[in-house]
Amino acid sequence: MEKAKSDGADGCAAEDEEVTQSLLITGASQILTLRGRTPRRGTSLSKIGMEKNGAILVRKGRVVAVGSRSSVEARPDAKEAEKLDVGGRVVIPGFVDSHTHLIQGASRADEYELKIQGASYEEIARKGGGILNSVKKLRAATSESLKARARAALEEFAAYGTTTLEAKSGYGLDVASELRILQLQRELAQEQRLEIVSTFLGAHTVPSEFRGKPDGAERYIRLLLEEMLPEIAKRGLAEFCDVFCDRGAFTREQARRILTEGKRHGLAPRVHAEQLSRTGATQMAVELGAASCDHLEQVNAADIRALAKSKTVATLLPGCDFHLGWKQYAPARKLIEADAIVALATDYNPGTSPTVSMPMVLSLACTQLRMTPAEALAAATINAAYALRRDNKVGSIEAGKQADLAVFEVEDYREIPYYFGMQRCWMTMKSGQIIYMRD
Ligand SMILES: [Zn+2]
Repeated sequence: MEKAKSDGADGCAAEDEEVTQSLLITGASQILTLRGRTPRRGTSLSKIGMEKNGAILVRKGRVVAVGSRSSVEARPDAKEAEKLDVGGRVVIPGFVDSHTHLIQGASRADEYELKIQGASYEEIARKGGGILNSVKKLRAATSESLKARARAALEEFAAYGTTTLEAKSGYGLDVASELRILQLQRELAQEQRLEIVSTFLGAHTVPSEFRGKPDGAERYIRLLLEEMLPEIAKRGLAEFCDVFCDRGAFTREQARRILTEGKRHGLAPRVHAEQLSRTGATQMAVELGAASCDHLEQVNAADIRALAKSKTVATLLPGCDFHLGWKQYAPARKLIEADAIVALATDYNPGTSPTVSMPMVLSLACTQLRMTPAEALAAATINAAYALRRDNKVGSIEAGKQADLAVFEVEDYREIPYYFGMQRCWMTMKSGQIIYMRD
């Protein structure tokens, strides 16, 4: 089986041929299927559906059967399938990274050094750094350079086992730039194999041209509601609408207006909530039926209860707290024990979480959030798929779903988070196509 070409156009004919083939995958020390009921809450979060000496049959990009090797091999359609022996490694569903800021102009390594020397995230933001710094860099960048940077990141996402990711706008903050980001995401989705789910985050922060003016924030919100949202909805450029609801960004009432209007345009809400301060964004988002509330370092008991009773996913982003050197991580154990739906994501962004590595996020979830390796894996696959409303297609290895797999160079799945900051992904497959293979 050939490695899939990532350059789209000239690879199409060969790809179509490949996806019609059947593939029988055997030789895994463990297959974590994650099959079963979704989403996973409470004690069911650690049910990973392990098959030892199992097999997976793939046809036309989908899983046809998964189970014991003898049962899968006994199927008549397994006989003529091409064989792939993974040599004692561990197979898991491809990671679903449900929170990223994919399109970005440049790194912010200069601010990283300032933060280490003691400047706070908010101090840096007040001096025109932070998100506004990324906005300046993005507006100045050509589409080609933004795309090249994102394309390189996408290859790295695949190399760490990710097969589906969400991507937010939010470093443009004017009509043309926000549309440009979402348009680039659409093009990237068509040009390479990773699935990209687009979110409009025009409400990331108030851009500098509206700051310090009477009604500046209100005028920007009106631009967002009256010009950006209708155009994005008309062109079908995003599935979700997000707001950074926090101290220094947007208030709960502003967020409610934006998300409600987004909903009216068919964009489902999700929200950056309770990261720097507790604003009540979580309960507001739950009332609106948001797909997810992300961050949640500052949630209180009432917020946890509201999440637990809802279908809104609590998406935890421990990479942020790690990169910023913060000691307060989100209360994952309390959320799990209350029966909230917990997911994990990288929050890949240049200011607070410059990583594409879901395995590193799993390591942080285990050591800092005290999640077990099994819980962390379910949170990074099936529950994350639920957060993107794709749990019927991805997030587990079961018949009918896309054949999205990550194979790790380990014998026991617990070694995936155990080895931290190490590249142990051996192969990644999206819809039956190999999109990454270690040399
Ligand atoms: Zn974010």
